[in-house]
Amino acid sequence: MKISVASFGERPKADLLIVPFWEGHVDAHRFPMLQPLVSSGDFKGKQGETAFFYPENGSETRLLLLGLGKEEKGSLESIRRAYAAASRAAQAKKVRSANILVPTSAKLSHEQLLIAAAESLFLTNYSFSKLKGDSLKDNPPVLLEQITWIDVEKSSLNHLERAKKIVDGVFFVRNLVNDNADDKTAALKEAASHFAQNHSHVTTEIFDKKRLEQEKMGLILAVNRGSKQEPCLIISSYKGNPASKEHIVLVGKGITYDTGGLNLKVGDGMLTMKSDMAGAATVLGTVQTAASLGLKINVTAVAPVTENGIDGTSYKPGDVYRAYNGKTVEITNTDAEGRLVLGDALSYAAKNLAPSCLIDFATLTGAIVVALGEEVSGFFTDDENLSKDLMKASKQTGELMWRMPIHPDYKDAMKSEIADLVNSGGRDAGSIKGALFLQEFVGKTPWVHIDFAGPTYVSKPKHYNTAKGTGFGVRLMIDFLERRERH
Ligand SMILES: [Zn+2]
Repeated sequence: MKISVASFGERPKADLLIVPFWEGHVDAHRFPMLQPLVSSGDFKGKQGETAFFYPENGSETRLLLLGLGKEEKGSLESIRRAYAAASRAAQAKKVRSANILVPTSAKLSHEQLLIAAAESLFLTNYSFSKLKGDSLKDNPPVLLEQITWIDVEKSSLNHLERAKKIVDGVFFVRNLVNDNADDKTAALKEAASHFAQNHSHVTTEIFDKKRLEQEKMGLILAVNRGSKQEPCLIISSYKGNPASKEHIVLVGKGITYDTGGLNLKVGDGMLTMKSDMAGAATVLGTVQTAASLGLKINVTAVAPVTENGIDGTSYKPGDVYRAYNGKTVEITNTDAEGRLVLGDALSYAAKNLAPSCLIDFATLTGAIVVALGEEVSGFFTDDENLSKDLMKASKQTGELMWRMPIHPDYKDAMKSEIADLVNSGGRDAGSIKGALFLQEFVGKTPWVHIDFAGPTYVSKPKHYNTAKGTGFGVRLMIDFLERRERH
């Protein structure tokens, strides 16, 4: 997408001009030809409201009146949602080029308004069509190819480029999540090694099955037993501040398909399970975006990758397997496999990568979706500073988070009669018990567990999220990393 700036008088020809209005302040002084439409009361400026107008002459084929809602309620998120509505309206008209006006507000700065609008337009300008067949020829998606921001200073172009790079990171995750399950292991490996080849401050190491056996990562190997594809552990590091000891390690669950194993999922339970590697994609996407932005921070992604398949060789409920850190785990449910692969990855990272903190991303439990729904992620931590920074990042990006308790009394449910732990402690407080299990693998390292099973994969498009993979987490983490950079 080509991004430029121009003055109102010198704006280029385009398919569309987006004209934003706050609710209750719809006036046509800049566009007198809109007066009849405004006077009719058909357009009130409610948030996300849109109306097209076709001028007889001028630089654009269409004007799109865009409602921003009430100015006193204006926020970064309300601006994002409004511009997402504009972007969808533009897509419906197969618009390729747009001139865009940015509102003014006493509440938000010009820069904040510009960035929120830009982020949203970029996020909505997405289509995953590689798996389409004939329907693509008949009805190809048309996306914006050229955007000109009107009355925006040239010096703001770097903000726009930055927003674009972050959204590229989001698309990286969406593309990986939306792809076919059978192609995901190769795609994750390829994405990590390709990026390292092209970026001098990034290194990637991939442990194959033989190396996982040498390292005695018994839990990743157990989960992998029912799959034809070999497992791997991807470690991708970006050193943006070699002089600093701070090293943030992100660990992402990479179950490329989750059948549930011998505790097979039933009914529609499997339909969304190609998204069970969203954690792996998110941590890799975050590291790559941090590198693209040149953040002065050291951050590593660790992604245990395997399918949880089903086969004569599958790992079995009742059997006991030994983790990388020596703890033994009695399998009480083969569908609680994410915590197993994360257990090995977290303990490997804690022991070998000298992390100043560990943050894991996992589509870990259905229980978190029952508790918080499709739009909010749960997180668990005992570290107040990490918690504060995460909540600030959540507020800034609109990627919603809610802190859950790591209630230690529930640990009893995770004890085994014949091993150190069980991997599943029953339905009640399911996501808390998942967190308590993971806590056994992080040692004394400050740690956050993010259970984002809800917002990573959604059935319908909403605001700036497209259907299926949303890429939730990259924007949150980049904002979080920038906060750590400033500390
Ligand atoms: Zn599972």
